[in-house]
Amino acid sequence: MPNQRIVGIDLGTTNSLVAYMEGDRPVVIPGEDGLNLVPSVVALDENGQIVVGNAARKYLIETPERGVYSVKRLMGRDVADIRDELKLFPFRLAEDLAPGEVLRIKLGDKTFTPPEISAFILRQLKRNAERYFAAPVTQAVITVPAYFNDAQRQATKDAGRIAGLEVLRLVNEPTAASLAYGLDQKQSETVAVYDLGGGTFDISILKLHEGIFEVIATNGDTQLGGDDIDNLLIAIALDDIQGDLAIDVRRNSEIVQTVRKAVIEAKIALSANDQTTLDVELPGGKRYQRVISRQQFEQLIQPVIDRTVGPVKQALKDAGLKPKDINEAVLVGGSTRIPRVRVLVEELFERKLHSDLNPDEVVALGAAVQADILAGGSEATKEMLLLDVMPLSLGIESLGGGVVKIIHRNSTIPASANEHFTTGVEGQTNVAIHVVQGERELAKDCRSLARFDLKGIPPMPAGLPRIEVKFLIDANGILHVSARELRSGKVSEIEVQPSYGLTDEQVENMILESFDYAEEDFRQRQVIEARNEAETMLTALEKGRNNPGWQQLSPRERSTIDKQEAGLRAVMKEDDYQAIRSAIDALNQGTMRLAELMMDSAVSSALKGKDMATADVGEGPASPHPIAQAEINSRD
Ligand code: ADP
Ligand code: MG
Repeated sequence: MPNQRIVGIDLGTTNSLVAYMEGDRPVVIPGEDGLNLVPSVVALDENGQIVVGNAARKYLIETPERGVYSVKRLMGRDVADIRDELKLFPFRLAEDLAPGEVLRIKLGDKTFTPPEISAFILRQLKRNAERYFAAPVTQAVITVPAYFNDAQRQATKDAGRIAGLEVLRLVNEPTAASLAYGLDQKQSETVAVYDLGGGTFDISILKLHEGIFEVIATNGDTQLGGDDIDNLLIAIALDDIQGDLAIDVRRNSEIVQTVRKAVIEAKIALSANDQTTLDVELPGGKRYQRVISRQQFEQLIQPVIDRTVGPVKQALKDAGLKPKDINEAVLVGGSTRIPRVRVLVEELFERKLHSDLNPDEVVALGAAVQADILAGGSEATKEMLLLDVMPLSLGIESLGGGVVKIIHRNSTIPASANEHFTTGVEGQTNVAIHVVQGERELAKDCRSLARFDLKGIPPMPAGLPRIEVKFLIDANGILHVSARELRSGKVSEIEVQPSYGLTDEQVENMILESFDYAEEDFRQRQVIEARNEAETMLTALEKGRNNPGWQQLSPRERSTIDKQEAGLRAVMKEDDYQAIRSAIDALNQGTMRLAELMMDSAVSSALKGKDMATADVGEGPASPHPIAQAEINSRD
C-alpha cells in the first residue's frame, strides 16, 4: 500500500475532474457540491480571492472582467499563436508584455499566466481529493490532449508544480480513455478513440493485447471543439440582437456571456430534442427568442465537425489500417453527445459505437488507472503496460531553413535519437542549433521549441568537427536535448533557451505567489473561523457562570474551566489554527457537565410552566451542538 495516494486528473478545457483507484475500480472524487465535474472557470472575487468551478461561473455573467474560461486554449502558446482565439473568446491580455514573455490574462486588476490559472483549477481538485481522503495529496497523473506539442505539455507540467502537485506523468487523453475502457476488455482488439470535447479534438488508434496498450497513431487539432459550435450560434444570436438594440452588443461582455450561456443550453437541448428555443434575457427587460430545429443546427455545425475527418483519415493511414480493421470506436468528450457527431463517427469507422462509459468521466478514470500503475500496480493493473506515441515530429533547422527530422511523429515514447552535424566555416567555435516541432518542410512553418549554442568547439577546419545532438523524449512526451563535439573529446557547454516557457525561477515565484490567493487565504480563513467559534463559546460561558448549574460544579471542575478559558484566550490572539482548535475542544470537554446541569435546570423551569424557547438552553457553553450551530450562523 503506497503511503501517498496518487490521483488522476483530467484538466479539461471546459470541465476538470479528479479520480482515484479504489480497489480495482477507478472512481471520480466529487467536489464539496457533490458534483463530479468542476467547470474549468476561474474568477477573482471582489476581495481578491480566487474562486473556481461552479462558484466562479456567475462571475462570467455578472462581472466578466473578473472571470476566465477555456484557458487551456492558451496553454503553451504565445500572443502571435492566439490571434484567432482573441477574436472569439473574451480573453483580456495584459498589455505590458515584453517580447518573448509568457502571456498573462487579466482578472480584475491582477494578471496571471495560463499555467497559473490552470494551477488554480488543479489546486481545487487537489483540495477536493484531500477532503475526500482526509490526507494530503501531492502527486498526480495529469492528462493532456494527445496532440499537444512540447510547449503545451511543459505549460501543463508547470501548472501542476504551481499547484503543489508533483506531476508523475502526463498521459494523452485518448490513451487514458482506452485504459479505462480496456480494464474490462480481455480479448485483443484494435480501438479508435474519438475525443471531441470543448476545445480540443483527438483521435488515437490503439492495439490492446494482453494488457499492453500500444498506441499506433495519433492525430488531432488542439483548437477544435464544442466552443467552436457555441461561437457559431453566438454569432447568429448577436447579429439578431444587434438589430434590436442601440448599443454595440459584441463589445458588451455581459450580453455576450448571457448569450453564450443560453446558446450552450440550446445546443445541449438539441442533442435530445428535434427543436429548441434559444431564449436570452436582455438588459432592460427585453427578451430575444429564436426557434432552432435540429436540422438547422446540424447544417450549421457540419463544417466544424467535418474538421475531424482529416485527422481521422490521417491517423488510419499512419496506422496502416482501413476503417474495417477497427474493432471498436470509443467516444470521449461532451461534444460526442451530439447525434450528428455520432453519425459521422459511425460513417468514418463503418460500425456501431461503443459508449458504455460516461464520455465526461472516462479520461479522468483512465488517469486514475495510470496513477495506480505508477504506484506499483494493484491486482487490476499490475499486468498493464502503456506504450504511447509522440504526436508530432521533432527536428533541427538545417542550412537554408529546411528541417532535418530527428524523431518522427507516432514514434513510441520514451524515445531517443542522435544526429551528427559539422561546421561550415574554418575555425568555427560556436554552432547555433534550432530545435523545431511539426510536420512542415520549412523551419519557419514549424513550432520553434528551443535555440541553443554549442560553444567552445576547438578551432578546426570546416567540416571536421563531429557534433552529436541527442534528443530524448520522456514518457510525458517532453523533449530533452543535449549536444557535444565528439572529435575533440572536450566537454562543450550548451545553453538551452526554450522558445516558450517559464523559467524554473519564474515557476518557483508563482508557487509562492499562488499561496497569496489560496493556501494562505485558506489558512487565514480557518483561523478567523476558529476565533469566531471561540468568541461564541466564551460568551456562552459567561452566561453559564450566571446559571444555577455553575454553583453545582465542584471547585476543581470550576478551576479547570477557568484554566481552559485562560488557555483559549491566550491562543486566540495567535495565528495558530490548530492551537485554537485544541483549546476550543478542551473547553468543550471541560464544560460538558455544566451544560448537562444547565439543560436540567432549563428542563425543570420548563416543567414549572416556563416556555422552553425562552429558557436558557441553546446558549449553554458546553454541548458541542449549540456552538456548531452558532458557527454556521455566524458564517452565513
Ligand atoms: P473538455 O474535455 O474540453 O473539458 P468535455 O468533454 O467536458 O470537454 O466536453 C465539453 C463540451 O461538450 C462543451 O462544449 C459542452 O458544451 C459540450 N457538451 C456537453 N454536453 C453536451 C450535450 N449533451 N450535447 C452537446 N454538447 C454537449
Ligand atoms: Mg476532455
